[in-house]
Amino acid sequence: MKFGIRPAGSKALRVTGDYIIQELKKSGWQVETQEFDYRGIPIRNIIGKFGAGDLIILGAHYDTRPRADQDKENPTAPLLGANDGASGVAVLLELARTLDKTKLKNEIWLAFFDAEDNGDLNACDLRVVEMQTATTGVCDTTPWTWSIGAIHVADNLPTKPVAVIVLDMIGDADQNIYYEYNSDKQLQQELWGIAAQLGYRQWFIPQFRWSMTDDHTPFLQRQIRAIDLIDFDYPYWHTTQDTADKVSAESLERVGRVVETWVENEGVTR
Ligand SMILES: [Zn+2]
Repeated sequence: MKFGIRPAGSKALRVTGDYIIQELKKSGWQVETQEFDYRGIPIRNIIGKFGAGDLIILGAHYDTRPRADQDKENPTAPLLGANDGASGVAVLLELARTLDKTKLKNEIWLAFFDAEDNGDLNACDLRVVEMQTATTGVCDTTPWTWSIGAIHVADNLPTKPVAVIVLDMIGDADQNIYYEYNSDKQLQQELWGIAAQLGYRQWFIPQFRWSMTDDHTPFLQRQIRAIDLIDFDYPYWHTTQDTADKVSAESLERVGRVVETWVENEGVTR
């Protein structure tokens, strides 16, 4: 978060991405990037890779929304994205550091998706941001779609993953993670089962609540088993109040432990 607001195409996101690459390499992951343009904006997905076997993708978006359009007082201001952006990234980076590589029986990708959070915004909304490339002329008012980065990953897979686990908005200090309607049911039961074993039943509630369009969607659309681990009961969503005081290390740890346990034990054979 110290890099500042981090929308797709911004200078701060470039620096954030460089930091992610550095941390992945430090922890022994092979790093690949996917760079492409979307409507003249440079987009970069970052993927840390390790291991061999069936492919499992653990993903999170690392961009933040350029407009706090749910903020009643400052709807045109950008947001810092402590939960919506940074929380999933924090857990993935900690998994990069702490996953026991001797236990892995799969090829693991830690995928940092760019440009998830510009959905329904447009090039004019992006003008509040210090961009990598100078914007010229009249801005385009055509709305962006969601999950531009994840769509690109899903479109360029070398093999079909056996599972995709997306982490988004999982850091709320008041954590309540419910089943999401579109996610793979078996994967949900496995992860919530692990959460119960770890004593997290209070925070991982095995009941359906939200139906999300998120970075798991492009994978589901390609018949890939995918799940969105998300706590959408977050009053600061897409507001300027999405700041570090609203998230907690304990919440991040619970999600990290569940995913760690699943990857090291259950995410084995399909
Ligand atoms: Zn968002």
